[in-house]
Amino acid sequence: MSDSPTAHPLLPSDSKRIGPGDLVFDCPACRKSLVVDKVAAGQILPCPLCKKPIQVPQTSRVVMLDQAPETQKLAQLPDWERELLTIQSSLKETQHQREEAGNFYRQHSSEANRQQLRMEKLDARLKELRESRDALLAQHPEKKNA
Ligand SMILES: [Zn+2]
Repeated sequence: MSDSPTAHPLLPSDSKRIGPGDLVFDCPACRKSLVVDKVAAGQILPCPLCKKPIQVPQTSRVVMLDQAPETQKLAQLPDWERELLTIQSSLKETQHQREEAGNFYRQHSSEANRQQLRMEKLDARLKELRESRDALLAQHPEKKNA
């Protein structure tokens, strides 16, 4: 991996899961919370939000670097609320899958209906053709076993 400034850009801290190797600090110009890989400490990089060049500090302002703000928030919730969130997320995903299955079914059931009508017409046509053939053969018994 390269140490060029672009290899470790500054990012808004809510745009990325913050890991133990990340520095979290506020932009001195716009006060937005930023995150960057700690190898960028001391470098001067443009803030992604206000575009001003800022020097990355050597230390992070956040003590718990191993948990993203979302994860911390989740950990503070009572068990039942965490369970509720899990259920709601599964519910959403299952609803999505159900819609997909429904769309697929509707699309293909109309095609299946068309093919079923066609099979019925072809069956009727086969019956007619067999009857015509049998009637003709009945008039010419000498050909029946030919
Ligand atoms: Zn800024």
